[in-house]
Amino acid sequence: MKRDYICPFCYGNLQVCEYIVFSARNTNKKFGLVLLHPEIGNYSIKSHPDFSFHSGEHIDFYCPMCHKSLVSDIDENLIQLVLIEDEKEYKIYFSRIAGEKSTYKVHGDDVTSTGEHADRYTFFKLADKYKKYL
Ligand SMILES: [Zn+2]
Repeated sequence: MKRDYICPFCYGNLQVCEYIVFSARNTNKKFGLVLLHPEIGNYSIKSHPDFSFHSGEHIDFYCPMCHKSLVSDIDENLIQLVLIEDEKEYKIYFSRIAGEKSTYKVHGDDVTSTGEHADRYTFFKLADKYKKYL
């Protein structure tokens, strides 16, 4: 299956070999590179030992090419990417809180949620007709 993770701003391809690459900043304002596994539901994360973060910490994610913040406009705790899979475009949202496992794959009204904490973001459970009341 052909699968590309794309920056929603510059449309640069974020994947190198087996990982999605981000520039990131921890709450100590220290920058580092993090690698995430491209398989949805796999929360393994790789970074240099000097760039550490503890569970519950909010990590800022940036595109390593255009340097824009990837925080989503629907929830400040979620990161937003574009996924092109078999020529179909999806929006991907995942939590930027270290240790929180919540990922959403969205295509129109079709939402696939993954992760043991996926119920924390109720935005994706509501039908469109209710979202306008938020
Ligand atoms: Zn970019």
